[in-house]
Amino acid sequence: MESSQPQKKYFVVSSDCHVHEPLDLWERRIEPKFRHRIPRLETDANGKRWLVVEGMRRTRVRDVAFEGEDRERAQGGRADLEIRLRDLERDGVDAEVIYPNRGLMMWASPDAAHQTAMCKVWNDWAIEAFASQKHRCAPAAAIAPKDIETAIKEVERVAKMGYRTVFLPVQVPEQPYNSPVYNPLWAAIQETGLPISFHIGTGKDPRTASGDGGAVINYVWHAVAPAIEPIVQFCSSGVCERFPKLRFGTVEAGIGWVAWMLAAMDEGYTKHHFWVSPKLSLLPSEYFRRQGFATFQDDRIGLETRKWVGIDNLLWGDDYPHHEGTWPRSQEVIDRTMSDLTEEERRKVLGLNAAKLYGFAVPAGRGG
Ligand code: MN
Repeated sequence: MESSQPQKKYFVVSSDCHVHEPLDLWERRIEPKFRHRIPRLETDANGKRWLVVEGMRRTRVRDVAFEGEDRERAQGGRADLEIRLRDLERDGVDAEVIYPNRGLMMWASPDAAHQTAMCKVWNDWAIEAFASQKHRCAPAAAIAPKDIETAIKEVERVAKMGYRTVFLPVQVPEQPYNSPVYNPLWAAIQETGLPISFHIGTGKDPRTASGDGGAVINYVWHAVAPAIEPIVQFCSSGVCERFPKLRFGTVEAGIGWVAWMLAAMDEGYTKHHFWVSPKLSLLPSEYFRRQGFATFQDDRIGLETRKWVGIDNLLWGDDYPHHEGTWPRSQEVIDRTMSDLTEEERRKVLGLNAAKLYGFAVPAGRGG
C-alpha cells in the first residue's frame, strides 16, 4: 500500500484490465442453438485435458503450479467487486477499462451468427456486473463485425446501455478492415462517440506455434504483432479521412513498434506513390497522431520513442491480473520506466489521456 502513496497526485487509469467471467456465463445465457458450440474443456482417454474452441486448434490444458505473486495473479481478476476494488487500490489504480478472459475467444468461430451470440452474452452481463461502480469500472462492449448490419444494431444498443468503448477483433479473416464494406459500421461507431479498441489475441488464434519457443513465438508474433494490422488498415485506406472523429487503438500490444510503424507507413505511401490508392490529404502517420492510440504496460523502450509518436496517443494499463501485466507492482514499474517523463507527460499517459478517451471524471486537483 505505501508504494502507491507517492503516486496519488496522479489520476491513474488502467486502460487494460480483465475479469474472469462466471464459469457458466455462456452456457447459461447463450441462445440455445449455440450452446453445444461454445468453448469447452474435454478430457481424452489418457486423462489429458484439452481446450476445444470452434475455429481454433485444440490446445492442451496444463496444470501449472503457480507460486508467490504468479499465484496471486492466477487467482485475481474476479468479478467480486469488493476484492477487485481492493486489488485496484493496492496497485494505485483509480479507474479501469475491463476486457474478458475467456471472452477473448468470442470471435474464434468463423460463423458470424455464433460470434454475434457470444458477444451479446458478454455485453448483457458485463455492464450489469459493474453497474454499481460504473464511474471507475468500464467494461468494453464486444462487437462481431463480420455481419455489418447486425454489428451496427449492437453498436447502437451497447452505446445506449452505457458502454464507453467497443472492442473488435484485431483481424477478421476474409474481410479485412480496409474494405469499404465497413463504412456504415465506422459511421455508426463514430456517431456514438465511442473509441474502438483492438485487444491483442482476438480474431486470430494466438496459440498458433507449439514446441520449442512456442510460448515466446506465440506472444510476440501471434498475439502482439497482429494488432499492428488494423492500425495500418485504418490509417492507409481512407477510414480516418472519411471518419475524422473515429478513435481507435491497440490494447496490450506495447508501444515500441508504433514509431517504426508510423515511419514505415509514410515511407510506403510516398515511395510507392504509383501503387497507392486512395490518395489521402494527410500522411498515414498524421491520421494515427490525430485519431489513434496504443496501450502499454512495461515498455521503457517504447516510452523513449514518444517524441515521434505523440504523448497524447499513449495510454498505460496494468493488464490486471495477467502474468504479462504489472499488477501488483505497477508503481515500481511506473517508477522504473517513466523516470525520464515530465510531470505533464506522466499525468497524461497514466490517466488523463484515458480519462478523455473513455470519459472518466478526473477528481479535482488531479488534472494537472
Ligand atoms: Mn489485456
